[in-house]
Amino acid sequence: MVESKRLDAQGIQIEAVEVTYGVGSAESVRALAPVDLSIHAGAFVSLVGPSGCGKSTLLKVLADLMPPTAGAVRIDGAAPSVLRQAGRIGLVFQQANLMPWLTIEKNVCLLRELVRQRKENAGVTESIDIAKLIEIVGLKGFENKLPHQLSGGMQQRAALARALALDPSVLLMDEPFAALDEITRDRMAFELMRIWQQYQKTVIFVTHSLAEAVFLSDRVVLMSARPGRIHRIYEIDLPRPRTEETRLSDAFLMLVAEINRELYKVMHEQVNQ
Ligand code: ADP
Ligand code: MG
Repeated sequence: MVESKRLDAQGIQIEAVEVTYGVGSAESVRALAPVDLSIHAGAFVSLVGPSGCGKSTLLKVLADLMPPTAGAVRIDGAAPSVLRQAGRIGLVFQQANLMPWLTIEKNVCLLRELVRQRKENAGVTESIDIAKLIEIVGLKGFENKLPHQLSGGMQQRAALARALALDPSVLLMDEPFAALDEITRDRMAFELMRIWQQYQKTVIFVTHSLAEAVFLSDRVVLMSARPGRIHRIYEIDLPRPRTEETRLSDAFLMLVAEINRELYKVMHEQVNQ
């Protein structure tokens, strides 16, 4: 009984989360209609949908960067604000946002250092070995370089390592590869999958690339816009580990096509609203 309770508390529960920007003003924007979603600990879930459907808004609520207008979120049984205080939420955005004057290693450790300096976190033991992390993300040998000495893909790997160094309960990624060229982007998807398998983190990944979403995910959540809501959830039961072959398989291509067709429908409905 106790065990099942503990297990129930793991993962992410999003319950009737609504967001309206500028509540009460004439220009208020209803960004999210009630959204309910439950995510197992360790799952890789992608959010896809038309621009403006509230993907980033949902990530901001999960990251405690803004409160929901209604509803609630629990991550491993805790409120996002509690996890943010403890530095247990990993964020990766389109831009790596590394400190240009700090070495890669110092950048990777920076957030963890800041979290550790807070007195309420004193005594928290660190479970992530930085040297190993840097090796796993493929930056071994670049520890003492400055960000500008690295390619865009490598900078994003450093940003990913900085988030993982926190040993986060959840890794929230908002279009992390959108600024990269296509070839680097494909490679990064493989790298991310490999890294995710090493660290077993719960990941919520926002992307415009349906192929990327299908390739990486256990589930793809298709959202519709105005106000954003969950339109459909696709279980991606392609076998793991996924390889180059996966991307060429009929099952993969059919899933991408199916979600694409539905996305077009959603966008068409939006235009006709
Ligand atoms: P997505 O990431 O899916 O493209 P967003 O979450 O950024 O969508 O935005 C959802 C909706 O909320 C959009 O209509 C957007 O214009 C609006 N919006 C986002 N941020 C704000 C804000 N700070 N103030 C007012 N409206 C916002
Ligand atoms: Mg966005």
